[in-house]
Amino acid sequence: MATPKKVLILGGGTGGLIISNELRKLLSSGEAEITVVDRNERSEFRPSYLYVAFGYREPHQVSLPLSLLERKGIRFVQAEVQGIDAANRSVETSVGTMDYDILVVSLGAETVDIGYPSPWELNLALKTREALAGFKGGTLVVGIHSNPYRCPPAPYETAMLAHFYLETRGLRDRSRILIVSTMKRPFENFGPLAAKMMSQMLEEMGIEHIGVGGSPAITSIEDNVLEAATGERIKFDAAFIVPPHRAPKPVAESELVKNGWAAARNPAHGDFRSEKYDDVYVVGDVVAPNVPLGMAGTILHSYSPYVVSNIVADVKGVSIGQPTFRVFGTCALDVGGFGMAAACDFTPFVQKKKPYPDCFFLPPAKPVRIFKEFFEKMYFAWLLGEVP
Ligand SMILES: Cc1cc2nc3c(=O)[nH]c(=O)nc-3n(C[C@H](O)[C@H](O)[C@H](O)COP(=O)(O)OP(=O)(O)OC[C@H]3O[C@@H](n4cnc5c(N)ncnc54)[C@H](O)[C@@H]3O)c2cc1C
Repeated sequence: MATPKKVLILGGGTGGLIISNELRKLLSSGEAEITVVDRNERSEFRPSYLYVAFGYREPHQVSLPLSLLERKGIRFVQAEVQGIDAANRSVETSVGTMDYDILVVSLGAETVDIGYPSPWELNLALKTREALAGFKGGTLVVGIHSNPYRCPPAPYETAMLAHFYLETRGLRDRSRILIVSTMKRPFENFGPLAAKMMSQMLEEMGIEHIGVGGSPAITSIEDNVLEAATGERIKFDAAFIVPPHRAPKPVAESELVKNGWAAARNPAHGDFRSEKYDDVYVVGDVVAPNVPLGMAGTILHSYSPYVVSNIVADVKGVSIGQPTFRVFGTCALDVGGFGMAAACDFTPFVQKKKPYPDCFFLPPAKPVRIFKEFFEKMYFAWLLGEVP
């Protein structure tokens, strides 16, 4: 019997979990040994960082141990990935060198700590919670430092949740909430209709918006004064700043990189092999800016079947072909007691046939908020077999 192929997956976040789970269903242990490597012991559901920041969840409720993968026949190694040598099919880690037949790089994006809280990392979400608890009124800024960043709509969700939070504590009348954004108009990446809808919602909530229409949006933050790239200076009492994002170091220093991010061969048609190496796939946030697509787990989920079927074909040596490529994403926002959602087909956008994705929207309603909570539970039940 042939030795099983070594499929090595770097990153146990959304991409690593989806790809490893789907591959395990299609490949027997005789066909492939599947290994996931992550520096962290637990995998986190990033969309729920907002719930941690606003006190609806504790960290252990938005994460689960990656060792749960072992129950599914997927090996987990907790280690820091230090280097990727694609020419020699090897990966340097803190526990030694690992070789592979097929490599999947789903290391996500790394944030640069600029000393301000925001729900973009779990530790920063806890600091956001502390800052909210100490906020007794004044000016609260939600700022986007620069593009790209995880989940483009989430800063707007943060501002709307802050509005709800302050209102329920009787502090809203004494507070100004202001968004400083890289977008000229809120939600403009979803098209003019979305921008109009979101502008109206912000107006109704009394949330101000400084749309820079460029990156970086923030040129300096010092002594409680934020300077936007438009030249406006805002004195604030609390600031939640989405930090700058970059490719993780082992990717940035590898041959897989182009313009600072991983590069896929023909992602607009579903080919997420690295530009240079047939046996390396690059998925998720680490490749998103080069596709170009927003950094979103649902988008990654929508194209994962194309990646999985290519890997299965590589391992088995047969292919049954692929359906026409489609890529889409959903974003459920909690806007304080209510939820709203955008669902977009990005296919015509990534294939450069349209300037915007085709989107439809679910306006604020209670059931959409329930859908958001359900989504979190489903994510863990599906990928790690438990609900935290
Ligand atoms: C506040 C917020 C709200 C969001 N809301 C939504 C939403 O509503 N809908 C949506 O679709 N998406 C949303 N997202 C985005 C979504 O979480 C990401 O797009 C998704 O997690 C990307 O998956 P990934 O596998 O590329 O990277 P990640 O999930 O970030 O996983 C990367 C993994 O690699 C590991 N890693 C990185 N470097 C190393 C290293 N050197 N060594 C070892 N391990 C390493 C990390 O520990 C991590 O586990 C949101 C994100 C945030 C922050």
